[in-house]
Amino acid sequence: MLFNQLGLSAELLRAVEKQGYEQATPIQQQAIPLILEGRDVLAGAQTGTGKTAGFTLPLLQRLHTGTVNRRRVRALVLTPTRELAAQVAESVRTYGQFLPYRAVVVYGGVSINTQIAKLKKGADVVVATPGRLLDHLQPGTIDLRAIEFLVLDEADRMLDMGFIRDIRKIMKALPAERQNLLFSATFSPEIRRLAADLLDSPTEIRIAANGKPAEGINQLVYPVDRERKRELLSHRIGVENWRQVLVFTRTKHGANRLAKQLEADGISSAAIHGNKSQGARIRALDDFKTGKVRVLVATDVAARGLDIDRLPHVVNFELPHVPEDYVHRIGRTARAGNEGHAVSLVCIDEHRLLADIEKLLGTRIEKEVIPGYAPDPRVKAEPITRGRSQRPPRGGGKPGRPKRHSGGQRKRNTARRRTS
Ligand code: AMP
Repeated sequence: MLFNQLGLSAELLRAVEKQGYEQATPIQQQAIPLILEGRDVLAGAQTGTGKTAGFTLPLLQRLHTGTVNRRRVRALVLTPTRELAAQVAESVRTYGQFLPYRAVVVYGGVSINTQIAKLKKGADVVVATPGRLLDHLQPGTIDLRAIEFLVLDEADRMLDMGFIRDIRKIMKALPAERQNLLFSATFSPEIRRLAADLLDSPTEIRIAANGKPAEGINQLVYPVDRERKRELLSHRIGVENWRQVLVFTRTKHGANRLAKQLEADGISSAAIHGNKSQGARIRALDDFKTGKVRVLVATDVAARGLDIDRLPHVVNFELPHVPEDYVHRIGRTARAGNEGHAVSLVCIDEHRLLADIEKLLGTRIEKEVIPGYAPDPRVKAEPITRGRSQRPPRGGGKPGRPKRHSGGQRKRNTARRRTS
């Protein structure tokens, strides 16, 4: 879709054209019209999808069509890191270059006085990390009482970095009447809670990581009873002679237990998860790569930190709570044009999780009942007990975007940061 079909003003289209963009990305196509309508939006989109322009362009247009003419801060964008804050502020300047708005960026680790001087000159848009923004709020060097637009960018990363209390404090300084946009790579229960508190009847949009899973991944669901998953897995590994299988479980404990059970079935296995030292993880990975162990059982977090691409078989022993993790998991197979095979063992408790994954993928996954393992229709669904959180500190390993905290934030965060 072309940008000029989205309802953006001539000044903004000129800036977009100057950037050389031709087509709007999927997140831009979906988010821009909604934001222009004044809707609250909950958007699932990662870096690289064009999300920044997706909220900056319509936000600038909304500022332009508003009536306020005194220079007060009308839009606030919160980001987890100073790098992202600087980047977003740069986008506001780029896309708003033919409009009369001023953006000021506020983050820790640099002189607060320079920021105070800039704020004094007047700003329409403030892009900030939560800790430093609070440092300005307390002495009153920033006034947020005229905020009309609030954007939380990379909200999941902000929560992982322990910013939730700061965010809630900042909310108290904002007027109740405003438009809210929340962008997050994943929709964990924590994000859902924040969204419920913050957004007013939001429209939800989602863009899967890198669009869709790579072509060439053959995805299958084996419906099976909860108690028979391990048996079915051993059976498939044996019957189909899978030589190198990465198996995902939801919890560290589950990973250990499954590796032991597979060993007992005569299938050489190792487990990797966050309770194991980096050395132990690397050893397990080497053994897996060299074929010394046939099955590597991993949690999402442990697998994320390791280079284990291009595998022939990935098995979801349990479906992940967060649908995007499914895409990450199965992305471990079928790299570089190879055929890959991704199988999910799905019991009755997981039907909801499967539906969420299929919604994200925009397609149904083919089901195959393995003879002898058909689910017993008398088995009732049970709630899935959550192990300790397996979510990583988001962005911890992303190149070019080191995890930083704004000034005064460091101490408060360490206590709350999770390990996995
Ligand atoms: P973001 O996901 O916002 O970090 O954007 C990722 C990159 O895509 C940035 O370098 C943008 O400048 C660029 N970009 C954003 N929108 C478009 C578009 N419609 N066409 C081409 N590139 C874009």
